Amino acid sequence: MSETLETLLDENRHFPPFDAFRSHAHLHDESIYATAAADPVSFWEKEALALDWIEKWHTGMEWDRPFAKWFVGGKLNACHNCVDRHADGPRADKIAIVWEGEPGEVRRITYRDLKAEVSKIANALKALGVGKGDRVSIYLPMVPELAMTMLACARIGAAHSVVFGGFSADSLAERTNDAQAKVIVTADGGYRRGNVVPLLKITEDALAIGCPSVDKILVLDRIGGYQILGHSERFVWWNDIVPNQSSECPCEPMDSEDLLYILYTSGSTGKPKGIVHTTGGYMTQTAATTKWVFDLNEGDVYWCTADCGWVTGHSYLVYGPLANGATVVMYEGAPDSPDKDRFWRIIERHRVTILYTAPTAIRAFMKWGTEYPDRCDLSSLRLLGSVGEPINPEAWIWYHETIGKSRCPIVDTWWQTETGAIMISPLPGITTTKPGSATHPLPGILAAIMNEDGKEVYAEFQNPGKSGEAPHARPPVGGILAIKHPWPAMTRGIYGDPDRYKKTYWTRFEEYYFPGDGAKVDEDGCFWLLGRVDDIMLVAGHNISTMEVESALVDHHAVAEAAVIGKTHDLKGQAISAFVILKQDHAGEDLVDELKAHVAGKIGALARPDDIFLCADLPKTRSGKIMRRLLRDVAEGRALGDTTTLADAAVVNALKVQYEDKEG
Ligand code: ATP
Ligand code: MG
Repeated sequence: MSETLETLLDENRHFPPFDAFRSHAHLHDESIYATAAADPVSFWEKEALALDWIEKWHTGMEWDRPFAKWFVGGKLNACHNCVDRHADGPRADKIAIVWEGEPGEVRRITYRDLKAEVSKIANALKALGVGKGDRVSIYLPMVPELAMTMLACARIGAAHSVVFGGFSADSLAERTNDAQAKVIVTADGGYRRGNVVPLLKITEDALAIGCPSVDKILVLDRIGGYQILGHSERFVWWNDIVPNQSSECPCEPMDSEDLLYILYTSGSTGKPKGIVHTTGGYMTQTAATTKWVFDLNEGDVYWCTADCGWVTGHSYLVYGPLANGATVVMYEGAPDSPDKDRFWRIIERHRVTILYTAPTAIRAFMKWGTEYPDRCDLSSLRLLGSVGEPINPEAWIWYHETIGKSRCPIVDTWWQTETGAIMISPLPGITTTKPGSATHPLPGILAAIMNEDGKEVYAEFQNPGKSGEAPHARPPVGGILAIKHPWPAMTRGIYGDPDRYKKTYWTRFEEYYFPGDGAKVDEDGCFWLLGRVDDIMLVAGHNISTMEVESALVDHHAVAEAAVIGKTHDLKGQAISAFVILKQDHAGEDLVDELKAHVAGKIGALARPDDIFLCADLPKTRSGKIMRRLLRDVAEGRALGDTTTLADAAVVNALKVQYEDKEG
């Protein structure tokens, strides 16, 4: 049996909560953890009361493993909760969405205007034959109409399936067919890094592949196509239908367990899964966690940089913040267009107070250098968030110092498309953070660490205590993350495939949800996410996480980014292989031996990589996550596995050629 190497990266920098948060944050009393753990269902029932319900539920939760129902019998509408209750109340003139197009235009949409626009789109969808229970594919650039169309679907009880605007015709067709969508909402194009992404053309290609369920295609004019392109029965221009609709459209009363949306996962580990989310539980947890984790206040200007094509864009750009009546910033384009300071310019221009972004972006900013943020006024920021991958401690420190000027708490939020909402994260008024750790499961979330044999080796239900104080000091334990109790926003399954749902998440441990990630808990009860279970290496009988070796590499001053994999080895089982991108000013230097020594020094001789391959790029998903399985294919000399969710297929092909040259 394998042993876990417990003395990996030794990170002992601590950041206690800032006084301003400790005294003023929504959550500042840590007894909430114990209250929630004592009775999670009642705890979440109290949170659900923050929403408007048309009819109250009769049962808090029903659990027929692996299918949960929350707030059973309750009726509500997600769009009403995100739009109408603000538009019809004191927030009517508050800005709901501030949008910047990549070419530079700015739109400010109040809650009152949002209600009118969403209602018109909802009526247009009805006119195109969409009704309660139908599915709609949304394939739009990051324009306000994307969020509005999601809300319009929710308003009339249709489920949306947003397909990221960077996906190909094949991917759009596959997702549209899987969801059996009746309508596709697209645009003539979108702007990305100064270029036009021809969304309409790609949609036509998808239809040519075959999308038999699709009756109509609603096309938004984003790049002026309305003037030049023809008209047809099947393709309906937005301008011809939406503006003429009534701005009154009643919200459909939905059952708490009615489908809100389907969303396909990023595809880091294989073929994407159509993850199903329903209404009451999802809205409850996204609304509550937005308020707690980002400590959202009335005056905040909140910017989540994720695209609505990913779950983060659903839960933390649209549903969570709008349910709270927030002002959200939405940006269409690339972070380096027209220059590498675009994000910082947006923060300066709109006085953004909360920024939520991904480690992949942070590592790119580090590579570009501090001159870009340094030339902008970032003084409005008060809190920073991270999501999508483990954040390497060095990236955390850079984010903290260079962007947060050492005065903004960082919330490293662990969750998944399947969990629907944040599960493990610091609370800025309570938690002492450590760079690289997502710290503790949120109140009402019961997480555990399992060993290889499926035995629980750690469970955190009680008040975790303040980090650093080690209330009940214990040795660190490593293993596999599991969730022990159903939570409101959990997926209700994989669309149309209950067997795959059971097999993927509920067979590894029968009684626990299996997210597929490795984790360890340190002596303070802080959780460290160690990457995918499939990625964890077994070197001479020791489990070594890719994340820790990568973090040790990124800790070296010349390294911008690193991806680590286990490669088959006759004696050791697996040997550590690293792919490393050097920072711009170190490009071309032969640092292989130095880097190996650096890792051995940081972690131990056992973690010393056998080989380090210096490269210019790494294969990533379109959401920016490193695809280690393809690197394993490269290192093992195998044919490349599924590459459909890859951002740039050329990267991995070039890498394969270079790697084979070197080996050959
Ligand atoms: P697929 O399931 O199709 O392979 P995916 O897992 O990348 O794709 P998502 O649901 O977008 O799809 O990503 C969730 C995963 O991202 C988590 O399981 C985890 O591996 C990683 N992740 C997200 N946030 C964090 C975080 N803060 N720390 C560590 N890992 C994270
Ligand atoms: Mg996943």
